[in-house]
Amino acid sequence: MIADLLASRIRDVPDYPKPGIVFKDITPLLADPKAFRAMTAEFVRLARDIGATKVVGLEARGFILAAPVAVEAEIGFIPVRKAGKLPGAVYAVSYELEYGEATIEVHQDSFEPGDRVLVVDDVLATGGTAAAAVEAIRACGAEPAAVAVLLELTFLSGRARLAQAAPDVPVNTLLTV
Ligand code: AMP
Repeated sequence: MIADLLASRIRDVPDYPKPGIVFKDITPLLADPKAFRAMTAEFVRLARDIGATKVVGLEARGFILAAPVAVEAEIGFIPVRKAGKLPGAVYAVSYELEYGEATIEVHQDSFEPGDRVLVVDDVLATGGTAAAAVEAIRACGAEPAAVAVLLELTFLSGRARLAQAAPDVPVNTLLTV
Protein backbone atom coordinates (compact mmCIF):
# COMPACT_ATOMS: atom_id res chain seq x y z
CA MET A 1 0.00 0.00 0.00
CA ILE A 2 2.78 2.39 0.97
CA ALA A 3 4.60 1.31 -2.18
CA ASP A 4 1.54 2.21 -4.29
CA LEU A 5 1.29 5.62 -2.65
CA LEU A 6 5.00 6.33 -3.15
CA ALA A 7 5.02 5.04 -6.73
CA SER A 8 2.02 7.22 -7.59
CA ARG A 9 3.96 10.32 -6.47
CA ILE A 10 7.01 9.75 -8.69
CA ARG A 11 6.75 11.30 -12.15
CA ASP A 12 8.57 9.97 -15.22
CA VAL A 13 10.08 12.75 -17.32
CA PRO A 14 11.26 11.29 -20.65
CA ASP A 15 14.42 12.58 -22.32
CA TYR A 16 15.61 14.59 -19.29
CA PRO A 17 18.35 15.71 -18.77
CA LYS A 18 19.27 14.20 -22.15
CA PRO A 19 17.64 12.07 -24.86
CA GLY A 20 17.09 8.43 -23.83
CA ILE A 21 17.06 9.08 -20.06
CA VAL A 22 13.78 8.73 -18.15
CA PHE A 23 14.18 11.06 -15.18
CA LYS A 24 12.43 9.99 -11.97
CA ASP A 25 11.04 13.22 -10.56
CA ILE A 26 10.27 12.98 -6.83
CA THR A 27 8.98 16.54 -6.41
CA PRO A 28 5.30 15.36 -6.33
CA LEU A 29 6.21 13.00 -3.47
CA LEU A 30 7.95 15.80 -1.54
CA ALA A 31 4.87 17.98 -2.02
CA ASP A 32 2.57 15.33 -0.51
CA PRO A 33 3.01 15.24 3.29
CA LYS A 34 1.37 11.80 3.62
CA ALA A 35 3.75 10.25 1.11
CA PHE A 36 6.78 12.13 2.46
CA ARG A 37 5.94 11.00 6.00
CA ALA A 38 5.38 7.37 4.89
CA MET A 39 8.73 7.30 3.09
CA THR A 40 10.51 8.87 6.08
CA ALA A 41 8.93 6.34 8.44
CA GLU A 42 10.33 3.47 6.34
CA PHE A 43 13.84 4.93 6.44
CA VAL A 44 13.56 5.64 10.18
CA ARG A 45 12.48 2.06 10.85
CA LEU A 46 15.51 0.81 8.92
CA ALA A 47 17.83 3.23 10.74
CA ARG A 48 16.57 1.86 14.07
CA ASP A 49 16.71 -1.79 12.91
CA ILE A 50 20.37 -1.53 11.95
CA GLY A 51 21.32 0.60 14.95
CA ALA A 52 22.43 3.54 12.81
CA THR A 53 24.17 6.32 14.72
CA LYS A 54 24.49 8.68 11.72
CA VAL A 55 22.60 9.15 8.46
CA VAL A 56 24.38 10.32 5.30
CA GLY A 57 22.48 12.15 2.55
CA LEU A 58 23.92 12.22 -0.97
CA GLU A 59 23.76 15.62 -2.67
CA ALA A 60 21.30 16.88 -3.56
CA ARG A 61 18.02 15.00 -3.32
CA GLY A 62 19.48 12.61 -0.75
CA PHE A 63 19.77 15.63 1.59
CA ILE A 64 16.01 16.16 1.48
CA LEU A 65 15.27 12.50 2.19
CA ALA A 66 17.90 11.97 4.87
CA ALA A 67 17.36 15.14 6.94
CA PRO A 68 13.94 14.19 8.37
CA VAL A 69 15.28 10.69 9.08
CA ALA A 70 18.05 12.24 11.20
CA VAL A 71 15.55 14.34 13.16
CA GLU A 72 13.04 11.53 13.67
CA ALA A 73 15.62 8.86 14.55
CA GLU A 74 17.56 11.38 16.68
CA ILE A 75 20.87 10.71 14.95
CA GLY A 76 23.26 13.10 13.24
CA PHE A 77 22.93 14.10 9.57
CA ILE A 78 26.12 14.10 7.49
CA PRO A 79 26.24 15.56 3.95
CA VAL A 80 28.21 13.83 1.21
CA ARG A 81 28.74 16.59 -1.33
CA LYS A 82 29.98 17.18 -4.84
CA ALA A 83 33.61 18.31 -5.08
CA GLY A 84 34.53 21.74 -3.76
CA LYS A 85 31.44 22.45 -1.63
CA LEU A 86 32.59 21.51 1.88
CA PRO A 87 34.77 24.07 3.72
CA GLY A 88 36.75 21.73 6.01
CA ALA A 89 39.31 18.99 5.38
CA VAL A 90 37.67 16.26 3.28
CA TYR A 91 38.11 12.74 2.01
CA ALA A 92 37.40 12.71 -1.73
CA VAL A 93 36.43 9.69 -3.81
CA SER A 94 36.29 9.78 -7.61
CA TYR A 95 34.29 7.32 -9.68
CA GLU A 96 33.42 6.54 -13.27
CA LEU A 97 30.26 7.85 -14.87
CA GLU A 98 28.87 6.73 -18.22
CA TYR A 99 30.87 9.60 -19.73
CA GLY A 100 33.71 10.92 -17.62
CA GLU A 101 34.22 11.04 -13.89
CA ALA A 102 32.64 12.51 -10.76
CA THR A 103 34.00 13.20 -7.27
CA ILE A 104 32.21 13.23 -3.93
CA GLU A 105 33.57 14.55 -0.65
CA VAL A 106 32.86 14.21 3.06
CA HIS A 107 34.33 16.10 6.01
CA GLN A 108 37.05 14.00 7.62
CA ASP A 109 35.71 14.71 11.12
CA SER A 110 32.10 13.75 10.31
CA PHE A 111 32.05 10.57 12.39
CA GLU A 112 32.99 9.19 15.80
CA PRO A 113 34.90 5.89 15.95
CA GLY A 114 32.37 3.04 15.82
CA ASP A 115 29.63 5.08 14.11
CA ARG A 116 27.19 2.95 12.10
CA VAL A 117 26.05 4.85 9.04
CA LEU A 118 22.88 4.66 6.95
CA VAL A 119 23.38 6.11 3.45
CA VAL A 120 20.23 7.59 1.89
CA ASP A 121 19.51 8.72 -1.66
CA ASP A 122 16.47 9.01 -3.93
CA VAL A 123 17.49 6.83 -6.90
CA LEU A 124 19.98 3.96 -7.22
CA ALA A 125 21.04 3.98 -10.87
CA THR A 126 24.52 2.63 -11.69
CA GLY A 127 25.45 2.56 -8.00
CA GLY A 128 28.61 4.59 -8.54
CA THR A 129 27.64 7.43 -6.20
CA ALA A 130 26.56 5.13 -3.38
CA ALA A 131 29.70 2.97 -3.74
CA ALA A 132 31.88 6.10 -3.57
CA ALA A 133 30.00 7.29 -0.47
CA VAL A 134 30.58 3.92 1.22
CA GLU A 135 34.30 4.21 0.46
CA ALA A 136 34.44 7.77 1.83
CA ILE A 137 32.66 6.73 5.05
CA ARG A 138 35.17 3.92 5.52
CA ALA A 139 38.03 6.37 4.93
CA CYS A 140 36.66 8.35 7.91
CA GLY A 141 36.88 5.26 10.12
CA ALA A 142 33.10 4.71 10.36
CA GLU A 143 31.08 1.67 9.36
CA PRO A 144 28.65 1.91 6.43
CA ALA A 145 25.81 -0.23 7.83
CA ALA A 146 23.31 0.01 4.93
CA VAL A 147 22.36 1.91 1.78
CA ALA A 148 18.70 2.89 1.44
CA VAL A 149 17.04 4.40 -1.60
CA LEU A 150 13.50 5.30 -2.54
CA LEU A 151 13.76 3.81 -6.02
CA GLU A 152 16.12 1.28 -7.62
CA LEU A 153 16.51 1.20 -11.41
CA THR A 154 17.28 -2.52 -11.63
CA PHE A 155 18.23 -2.44 -15.34
CA LEU A 156 21.32 -0.35 -14.45
CA SER A 157 22.66 -3.03 -12.06
CA GLY A 158 23.62 -0.62 -9.29
CA ARG A 159 23.09 -3.33 -6.71
CA ALA A 160 25.75 -5.50 -8.38
CA ARG A 161 28.21 -2.60 -8.57
CA LEU A 162 27.66 -1.89 -4.90
CA ALA A 163 28.01 -5.57 -4.02
CA GLN A 164 31.37 -5.60 -5.78
CA ALA A 165 32.60 -2.47 -3.96
CA ALA A 166 31.03 -3.30 -0.59
CA PRO A 167 29.78 -6.90 -0.39
CA ASP A 168 28.89 -6.61 3.29
CA VAL A 169 26.70 -3.51 2.98
CA PRO A 170 23.00 -4.36 2.43
CA VAL A 171 20.93 -2.33 -0.04
CA ASN A 172 17.33 -1.49 0.88
CA THR A 173 14.96 -0.13 -1.73
CA LEU A 174 11.36 0.97 -1.14
CA LEU A 175 10.49 0.66 -4.86
CA THR A 176 12.03 -1.02 -7.90
CA VAL A 177 11.52 -0.60 -11.62
P1 AMP B 1 24.30 6.45 -9.87
O1 AMP B 1 25.60 6.92 -9.29
O2 AMP B 1 24.40 6.10 -11.31
O3 AMP B 1 23.64 5.36 -9.05
O4 AMP B 1 23.34 7.69 -9.86
C1 AMP B 1 22.77 8.06 -8.72
C2 AMP B 1 22.47 9.54 -8.68
O5 AMP B 1 22.01 10.07 -9.93
C3 AMP B 1 21.40 9.70 -7.68
O6 AMP B 1 21.79 10.72 -6.79
C4 AMP B 1 20.17 10.06 -8.47
O7 AMP B 1 19.54 11.14 -7.85
C5 AMP B 1 20.64 10.42 -9.85
N1 AMP B 1 19.94 9.71 -10.93
C6 AMP B 1 20.47 8.79 -11.77
N2 AMP B 1 19.58 8.35 -12.67
C7 AMP B 1 18.42 9.01 -12.39
C8 AMP B 1 17.11 9.00 -12.97
N3 AMP B 1 16.80 8.23 -14.01
N4 AMP B 1 16.18 9.81 -12.42
C9 AMP B 1 16.47 10.58 -11.36
N5 AMP B 1 17.68 10.65 -10.79
C10 AMP B 1 18.66 9.87 -11.28
